[in-house]
Amino acid sequence: MPDEKVLKPAAAVSVILMLIIVAVSFSMKESNKLAGVTGTAVFLMGEESEVAEEKAQEGVFAIFPGEKSKEVLAKLRDKTIVIQKPKSVSEVTTVAFEEIAIEQKIILHIEGIHTGELSEDSIYRVNGEEIYYGSAAAMEGDMVQFLTIAEEKKLDEEYARAHITITLDTNYAYELYEDDGYYYISLLRAKDRYDKIIVVDAGHGGNDPGTFPSSEQCYEKDVNLAIVKHLLEYLKQDDTIKVYTTRTEDVLPTLKQRAALANNLEADLFLSVHCNSNANTQIQGMEVLYNEKQDGTSTFTSKDFAQICLEHTNGKLSLKNRGLVPRSSNVYIVGAANMPVALVEVGFMSNPSDLAVLSNEYYQKKAAEGLYEAVQDAFERLEQREEEDE
Ligand SMILES: [Zn+2]
Repeated sequence: MPDEKVLKPAAAVSVILMLIIVAVSFSMKESNKLAGVTGTAVFLMGEESEVAEEKAQEGVFAIFPGEKSKEVLAKLRDKTIVIQKPKSVSEVTTVAFEEIAIEQKIILHIEGIHTGELSEDSIYRVNGEEIYYGSAAAMEGDMVQFLTIAEEKKLDEEYARAHITITLDTNYAYELYEDDGYYYISLLRAKDRYDKIIVVDAGHGGNDPGTFPSSEQCYEKDVNLAIVKHLLEYLKQDDTIKVYTTRTEDVLPTLKQRAALANNLEADLFLSVHCNSNANTQIQGMEVLYNEKQDGTSTFTSKDFAQICLEHTNGKLSLKNRGLVPRSSNVYIVGAANMPVALVEVGFMSNPSDLAVLSNEYYQKKAAEGLYEAVQDAFERLEQREEEDE
């Protein structure tokens, strides 16, 4: 489930009628930037610059008008997306915020406006003293890489829904607020906002089933996801931990996306769940992969994390303990992760007795319980090490 935050309570009208797409995707204009630092700064201070004046005549700079500018400025963080409210915004308007972290994407769902009122030119990106607007062309300094606005309206409905989809240059934590004229999405460094961050990854997915036994229809991707979903339930019990996941459905993010999510967020821990396989069906047991190159540079290493995962998880399942496996270059996400990473190969799907455990929901939940304890333990040890360092 994506993180949804509603800015304003809803009074949505839902009539089942034919859905018509009124307007999808605006032209691929280039992004624009408000002159250089000087011009922008001058504009922000409410004074006139040549560029600002010219743009104001085009109606582009309705933002930060007059008296309001100081008040608005005081609210802006270093990086903020400012969306001018449509004229028809009223008490029936609802705004929901959705984050799709693995795609570095946020979506603003706005209900209860008239069609054609939103434009990329009224979606401003404030980055320090620079302001960008328009649909994106990945300009340097613009946090927005890609931007689309889709609008839809059912026949006979008075109001439309708009979906503003914004692809960002990296992953952020978000703060949302609004005033009479604008919606604000402040983009914060995740580590400044959250103390403890973990990225949980269910291996494979979509058209990559992972491994599967020849005997029956049971795919690794589904076992991984089932364990991860149980783990997410456990992690909900601890609100001191901010949890991100690479997938909660049967989809296939790339390995690069998975590692980038953890690295962009500067996550404290990266946990990947997989199942093993071997042509020799006698081979069985649990092993945990870690990044062997992460030693000496950190006081809590990938190996430490892997060891904790192995102890706790196999403590619940009592499979054969195959120990830790050092990897760096040949397993992408283990090698690419900048933080303590553990890739747990829970058991061998090619082995009948392991498979009986892996495909059983009771044991999937047990595995998740072990991983949850491992995560708790790991964060405790991370904290202890930090205290020792101080
Ligand atoms: Zn796998």
